[in-house]
Amino acid sequence: MTTELKPNVYLVTGGGGNSTVIVGNTGVLVVDAKVSAPAGTALVAEIAKITPKPITTVFLTHSDPDHITGVQSMPAGVKVIANEGNKREQAEMTAAGGRGVPPPQSLPTQVTTKTKETMTIDGVKFELYHWAAAHTQGDLVVYLPDQKILATGDIIQSNRADDNPLMHYPEKRGSSEGWIKSVKEMIALNADVYVPGHGDPIKKADMEKRLAATSARRDLVMKLAKEGKSIDDIKAASPNLNQQGQPLPAPAPGANPNSTFIEIVSAEATGKK
Ligand SMILES: [Zn+2]
Repeated sequence: MTTELKPNVYLVTGGGGNSTVIVGNTGVLVVDAKVSAPAGTALVAEIAKITPKPITTVFLTHSDPDHITGVQSMPAGVKVIANEGNKREQAEMTAAGGRGVPPPQSLPTQVTTKTKETMTIDGVKFELYHWAAAHTQGDLVVYLPDQKILATGDIIQSNRADDNPLMHYPEKRGSSEGWIKSVKEMIALNADVYVPGHGDPIKKADMEKRLAATSARRDLVMKLAKEGKSIDDIKAASPNLNQQGQPLPAPAPGANPNSTFIEIVSAEATGKK
């Protein structure tokens, strides 16, 4: 489904993660590319209903398959911009082989390496951010300063039953420390609209609520872990904590099981990597 967020900026949902579509002077720029070749084709068809202009550029917020696989359905030669960590992860996924191998078209053709990179493409101003490894080590947050629209990637997912963040740890080096830092910075940008990786767009007040809830939860786990409490102790000592986090999605076949919030924060508290 396509929703207009502001003039020339659209949200296309379904078929994997959210895609933000920006119509430039002569072409179309897209943030995230859906879960499969058919889903990518459906995205291209949705964009064709908005404008006859060709897709020229794709930004990838991170390397998870539901955000990158559909690049193969975009026009050949499309520019793919992502953080250097994303490129590294795709190389690792390719080296590991099996079902998790990304299509070659998804590999970034241009990488960001700094905390903030500013660029104007086709008349559209972008600010690209990577403050820390939050959801993954290759997170890229895409901000449109003129429209005040921010694409968070999966650092924020508004369709989960709770406000518990999802971090890929250890395999993509996500961290709760990086999550807190990144969310604080996103809030400081004061966007009108925050487009999450999954779910409906949210406002700054909702971002602040998520930050407060996760910070409180993290502080408690940190304290208990530093006192030497085991994962099971922490779970037992804070039954509330478990209820605040719904189970994480099942990992892809052959992938590492997802670590829980308590496991990730405990590892950070005790310095275990
Ligand atoms: Zn993800």
